[in-house]
Amino acid sequence: MDYLMFCDHCGMPKPIEEYIMREYFWIASHVYCNNCEMANDIPKHLQSLALEMRKNRYGSID
Ligand SMILES: [Zn+2]
Repeated sequence: MDYLMFCDHCGMPKPIEEYIMREYFWIASHVYCNNCEMANDIPKHLQSLALEMRKNRYGSID
């Protein structure tokens, strides 16, 4: 399942694929809008979710 983030600047929805979330969101702090190319902060709850997905996939990262 994909997740949607909305750009804070232009409101454009950005679909986030599951693997992007799992591989990238837990270490990234922001993503760039495809439309206006402004940086958007990744919400804390999506970072937590990404970390959970990572744990589920790879086991503990400690
Ligand atoms: Zn935008």
